[in-house]
Amino acid sequence: MPKKKAIITGITGQDGSYLAELLIQKDYEIHGVVRRASTFNRGRIDHLNSDESNPDCLVHLHYGDLGDSNSLLRIIHDVKPDEIYNLAAQSHVGVSFEMPEYTGDITALGTTRLLEALRTSKLPAKFYQASSSELYGKTTSERQDEETPFYPRSPYGCAKAYAYYLTRNYRESYGMYAVNGILFNHESPRRGENFEAKRDWGYAPEFVEGMWKMLQCPEPEDYVLATGRTASVREFLELCMKHLHINYERKGSGKDETYTDTKTGKKIVALDPLYNRPAEVDFLLGDASKAKKKLGWEAKTSIEELAKIMLEADCRKQGVQLN
Ligand code: NAP
Repeated sequence: MPKKKAIITGITGQDGSYLAELLIQKDYEIHGVVRRASTFNRGRIDHLNSDESNPDCLVHLHYGDLGDSNSLLRIIHDVKPDEIYNLAAQSHVGVSFEMPEYTGDITALGTTRLLEALRTSKLPAKFYQASSSELYGKTTSERQDEETPFYPRSPYGCAKAYAYYLTRNYRESYGMYAVNGILFNHESPRRGENFEAKRDWGYAPEFVEGMWKMLQCPEPEDYVLATGRTASVREFLELCMKHLHINYERKGSGKDETYTDTKTGKKIVALDPLYNRPAEVDFLLGDASKAKKKLGWEAKTSIEELAKIMLEADCRKQGVQLN
């Protein structure tokens, strides 16, 4: 049996790197789309051998960009994939307020370019679109599932809404196997360090398994992936401090809230106004019942475990010994 071939856009990102690892385990031939950058930005996939001259090469990398249709057409033509995972995006909500036009070009129109490249190739490849819980934004529903109306609150959310509807539209108009995974926040030690923390928090390696499962079904459908538990940034922070055995005192409220280490008297946490946004998403809590029923997928890592995993990874990176 020839190996299945998958193209992953955004392979250098958090999810792309975990998905590549998962598909290697499943014996896929993996092709990643990478952007040219002046400094090397492949830290998350360095451990996967992408050296073509090496017979053990695990990941084939192709230069391409969601802003450049020709590169996408060329890669699809050369690879002839069975599955395409579109994980690339200008994925930072805060940055999307600074660069709304660029965010629309890459996150929204980039999906059009990729879907159109696949459609014109006439290949029967299955297509996964990385949709986001940011679609729900200022939702009034207590829990959000596949039927909950969207109310995006950022240029990023608006661009993801466009990409979501276009993916559905290609499925309905052309009969393509194109699905949306509406993923709630998922973190890992590979998360970019300037990402703002959010609410329904899961563990990224489990979520990429859900992506793969969505492309193994008899019929293409959209799915929510979430933990179904919600936690505030404050709770997450306090879990980390508990794990570090730090006794703290919380003072002030709102933008003046601070944490002090009671042993040293040092202020250890304060809010950075850099992360304030013109419009905020207040509360998100996903309902992944459909994924559980139809895909047999369920989030397993608890928020306590996630805080521990991320804290330990950070300490390792900083050379700090935990006792
Ligand atoms: P990430 O770490 O920010 O990775 C984004 C990837 O997109 C990077 O590989 C980046 O490449 C690539 N990229 C950006 N612009 C590109 C362009 N113009 N052409 C080609 N590639 C480009 O994101 P993530 O956390 O792995 O998330 C993966 C996807 O899921 C994203 O679409 C995100 O919006 C979505 N999502 C994430 C979450 C979450 O909680 N993580 C939740 C819901 C949805 P460089 O390395 O070159 O910058």
